[in-house]
Amino acid sequence: MTQTVQIHNAANVHPHDYENTGDWKRYLDALNSMLKSRLFTHRPFFLAHAMTFGCNSRCKTCTYWKNIPRMKEDMKTEDVFNMLDEAYDAGMRGYYMFGGEPLIRQDIAKITDYAKNKGFVTVMNTNGSLLEKKARDLKNLDFAFVSLDYYNDYDDVIRGRPNTFGEVIRGIYELKKIGRTKVALVTTISSLNWNSMRRMAELASEMGVGISFNSVEQSLDFGQTTSETTPNFDVGLDSEKLKEFYRTLLELKREGFPLLETDEVLEDFVNGKPWKCHFPKMFLYVTPNKQVYNCDYTYAYDLKKGSFEQYFRSEGFWSYVKSAESCNKCVRTCVRGYSYTYGLFPRQLWGLAGQARLLFNKPEESCSVDDSPARNSNRLSGTRPNTVRH
Ligand code: SF4
Ligand code: SF4
Repeated sequence: MTQTVQIHNAANVHPHDYENTGDWKRYLDALNSMLKSRLFTHRPFFLAHAMTFGCNSRCKTCTYWKNIPRMKEDMKTEDVFNMLDEAYDAGMRGYYMFGGEPLIRQDIAKITDYAKNKGFVTVMNTNGSLLEKKARDLKNLDFAFVSLDYYNDYDDVIRGRPNTFGEVIRGIYELKKIGRTKVALVTTISSLNWNSMRRMAELASEMGVGISFNSVEQSLDFGQTTSETTPNFDVGLDSEKLKEFYRTLLELKREGFPLLETDEVLEDFVNGKPWKCHFPKMFLYVTPNKQVYNCDYTYAYDLKKGSFEQYFRSEGFWSYVKSAESCNKCVRTCVRGYSYTYGLFPRQLWGLAGQARLLFNKPEESCSVDDSPARNSNRLSGTRPNTVRH
C-alpha cells in the first residue's frame, strides 16, 4: 500500500518540473525505480519500444526489415506520448528506443524531448546511418548505442547498405560534437565478421567510446522466419565458437580495451556458470503497434486493450518472470550483465562503477577516425573475411 502511494506521488510530478533540473535527478529517479522493482514490486522499469516496423538497412544478420509494409501500424506521435505517460504512471523511468531504425521516424526529436522532459532516462539503439543528419534532433538523448559490425567499409556489406561505415563514423563524430549524448558502439559477431573483435575494440579505443559485443541471434520479425530459417541458422556461432567468442572478449577486457561487459559476466560465460535471469523484471518490450512481446519473441499482451498495470498483475506476466529465472538460454552479454546488476552483485557493481567513464564522453572530445573512402578501401584490402556469403 505504501508503495502504491509513493508511485502515485511520483507520477504527479509535472513534466516541466524536470526541465530546469540537472540530469542527476532523472538518473537517481531511474536508480530508485530499479531498487523498488528489485526489493518490492518485481516489475519492469525500462520501456523498450520498437518505434517502427521500418528500417533503412538490410543487414545479413537480421530479418526485421521485412516488416516494412507494416509501417502504417506504427504508433502516431500523440499515441507515443500517451504511452509514455502511462508507462511513467506505472513506475517506469527508462525509455529505450529501437526498431527497426528509430531515426527514420520524422518525430524522433519530439518523442525524445517529451520522454526526457517527462523524467525518463532516454536510450537509443540505432544503425547510425542517419546520425549525422539528425544529431541535432537528439539533444535530449542520454545514451546512444550505435551498431557497427566491422572496422572498415566491409561493414556496408554486412549491413546491406552502401556507405554505412562512413555514415556511422561521421554520425558519432557529430553526436559527440554536440556533447550531450553518451555514445558506445555495439557489434554483433557472426561468421561474417568472426575474428574482428580485436580490431573493433581498437577502433572503439581510437574513437574514445565504449563498445559492447553480442553474438548474432534470431531477430523479432513477427513470423517472417522460424528458428530454422533465421539468419542465425546460417551465420550464427556454434557452441565452440561461442566459447571462443567469450574467451576473446575476456582477454580484450583484461588488456584494458573499453568493453562495456564486466569481467564477472565474461568470466562466468567462459566458465559456463548458470545464472538467474531478471530480464522480465527490468524491461518491457513493446512493438510499434503497442503489443507486448516476451524476450523469446512470443506474444504476451495487447496494450491497446489493457493497461501496464493490468498486464503486471496478470498471471501471464508472473509465469514469464518465474520461467525466466531458470532459463539460462541467453547468449547476450548485455542480458546477463543487466541481471547481475539487478541482483546487486557486488563485483558487477564495482565493475560498472569502474567503466562509467566509458559512457560519459567529454563534450570537447572529437572522433579521430578517418572515414574517407581511400583509407577504407586500403584497410579493406586483404582484410575481408573469407566466410562472407553474399
Ligand atoms: S539489425 Fe537493425 S539496422 Fe539491421 S536490418 Fe535489423 S533492424 Fe535494421
Ligand atoms: S535468459 Fe532466457 S528469459 Fe532471460 S532474456 Fe534470455 S531468453 Fe529471456
